Amino acid sequence: LDPGDVLRETLARIERFDARVHAFLTLNPEAEAEAEAVRRRVEAGEELPLAGVPVAVKDNLTTRGLATTCASGVLEGFVPPYDAAAVERLRAAGAVLVGKTNLDEFAMGSSTEHSHFGPTRNPWDLERVPGGSSGGSAAAVAAAYVPVAVGSDTGGSVRQPAAFTGTLGFKPTYGRISRYGLVAFASSLDQVGTFGRSVADLALVSRVLMGHDPRDATSLEAPPARLEPDPRRGRGYTLGVVRETLEEGNSPGVLDALARFRTVLESAGVRFVEVELPSLRHALAAYYLVATAEASSNLARYDGVHYGARVAAGEVRALMQRTRERGFGAEVKRRILMGTFALSSGYYDAYYGRALKARRRIAAEFAQAFWEVDLLVTPTTPTPAFRLGAKLDDPLEMYLSDVDTVAVNLAGLPALSLPAGFEEGLPLGVQLIAPALAEDRLFDLAALFE
Ligand code: GLN
Repeated sequence: LDPGDVLRETLARIERFDARVHAFLTLNPEAEAEAEAVRRRVEAGEELPLAGVPVAVKDNLTTRGLATTCASGVLEGFVPPYDAAAVERLRAAGAVLVGKTNLDEFAMGSSTEHSHFGPTRNPWDLERVPGGSSGGSAAAVAAAYVPVAVGSDTGGSVRQPAAFTGTLGFKPTYGRISRYGLVAFASSLDQVGTFGRSVADLALVSRVLMGHDPRDATSLEAPPARLEPDPRRGRGYTLGVVRETLEEGNSPGVLDALARFRTVLESAGVRFVEVELPSLRHALAAYYLVATAEASSNLARYDGVHYGARVAAGEVRALMQRTRERGFGAEVKRRILMGTFALSSGYYDAYYGRALKARRRIAAEFAQAFWEVDLLVTPTTPTPAFRLGAKLDDPLEMYLSDVDTVAVNLAGLPALSLPAGFEEGLPLGVQLIAPALAEDRLFDLAALFE
């Protein structure tokens, strides 16, 4: 296969469908030259794990010479002078960067509707959302533009859109993939994640991205995970079904999908037990306090002076105010307000301090559960993809679509969402959660189910 031919096929599909889906914000004008360079590297005998593979990257990862917007008005005109670590690793592995994908502004959202450039639509049903915030990357894989894509997952932004689009989505242990060049939303929760349509593809691209990077102070110096999926090992695992995630709010199809998942795997020899994680009911509240607190600090840098858009005004204070007033969308402003409030001196103990306690307790309960089971299993989302606009006027309803995914980020654990069924023609996902650094178990079990 010639990387140039593969790229032309990819671009033809995008040309044909993406006016309707809107997965991409920017196509890479250098893609053809990059494909040609890969062809030459292969000819020269280089062994490249992703030789010529077209890849889509979420637009909150910096790309040298290519606009990076975070789907925000405030970054208009910003062209980064450097590649994110994840992008560097893709290029080194021979991948061809096709373009940058749509997201909720600064990755804040669950539907990709909070984008300055308009929503992405779900390829399974154009009236439905693809999930978010990495909805563009999920849609690019689901629409078969690219076999794999990269996103970011702060509270579920890879796993939830994977479930909504019938793709696989993986979030590694916190610190496995460098955050260098990933525009910060909530630094203690953010991780780069991956999308694919098969377990083998997902494992391949994930392996390329994982590894130590001294430029990210939270990057782990751990032995690499074994990511070659081994379904035989999967048969020997014990899975814990998390009771709290089945209690309420799930649509019937979600419960059916989980039951079927269990039946299929039990007949393959996998053991299932019930597990209780009582503090999980505090996860969503804790997450939205920690995430907004960190965001309010991280987003202080968009002041019209350092980056992107600037709304001119007589003096610098007014310039900053007007730039932020015009540049940020409503959801981002809401988060900055909530985060600033939670951190303010009179309320710190009542909100942020208590959220940190809940976070520690959740992490401890996970650790305890993993004394008894190899993996935990939950629905990825309580429902299939919802209609565009359905939750736009009700932020709390929107936040509730993350109820099953956020605890994983609070505890820094690896997790994977895999397609597990349909409800009224819409895909559904099951989420597997592993102990820190035990990514290999996720892939073993996913391969066994696949
Ligand atoms: N939907 C969640 C939020 O809005 C998660 C976002 C994410 O993982 N980037 O915060």
